[in-house]
Amino acid sequence: MLKDNLKKVEQCVEEACRRAGRSRDEVTLIAVSKTKPVSLLQEAYAEGVRNFGENKVQELCKKTGEMPADVRWHMIGHLQRNKVRQIIDQVALIHSVDTYRLAEEINIQALKRGRIVPILVEVNIAEEESKFGTSAEDAIQLVEEISKLENIRIKGLMTVAPNVENAEENRTYFRKIRQLSVDIRNKNIDNVSMEILSMGMTGDYEVAIEEGATMVRVGTGIFGERIYSRTGDTVSADRDSV
Ligand SMILES: *Cc1c(COP(=O)(O)O)cnc(C)c1O
Repeated sequence: MLKDNLKKVEQCVEEACRRAGRSRDEVTLIAVSKTKPVSLLQEAYAEGVRNFGENKVQELCKKTGEMPADVRWHMIGHLQRNKVRQIIDQVALIHSVDTYRLAEEINIQALKRGRIVPILVEVNIAEEESKFGTSAEDAIQLVEEISKLENIRIKGLMTVAPNVENAEENRTYFRKIRQLSVDIRNKNIDNVSMEILSMGMTGDYEVAIEEGATMVRVGTGIFGERIYSRTGDTVSADRDSV
């Protein structure tokens, strides 16, 4: 079942790339495994998946210990400053940096380890109340400020588009953030590259690819629906899934 799901998603990714005249290797498929048991991650791994996305520090740390070392972990959820320390050595990329204070803490922890840490700046492109991320308006200034932190490299932007019935409704948001990333790139800011655009989830990743996504984050489409326990702490901080 997971195998079939993966195959289907991979096919859709390929077709979206073809429609957009893009090469398949421009797009990284991140398997969003939050709430799913390690056995399912292992199944995905056996099918060749190497990029996994998690949104909770505790869950991510537990899973990294149980999966092979060549997995690339992506922190895609809201990150509290006091938890940066726990994940900084585990993750390949932090997608969800939306304040200078958080970036500052990442920089401190990176400095301690003599590491350069790649991050994305999360933009709330549709300005939804319920979502994290800086506004498009403030994004450039935030990027400029963070770029001065020596041990951080800003690799691009990330967004979580609205939860819509018809993916086409999000095309305008994907275009908007893509344009924002071009505008930022044109400023030629030191330590800022804008090579990554992390956008598109199960419901809209094909449209996102057509509009320039270089990373798509697909959970349900690969692992099936997530089940949140009534009392479980998985729900509380995950504003998008309730
Ligand atoms: C859960 C989550 C996803 C995956 O969502 P699906 O709709 O299951 O594909 C992608 N990005 C973020 C930030 C998430 O929290």
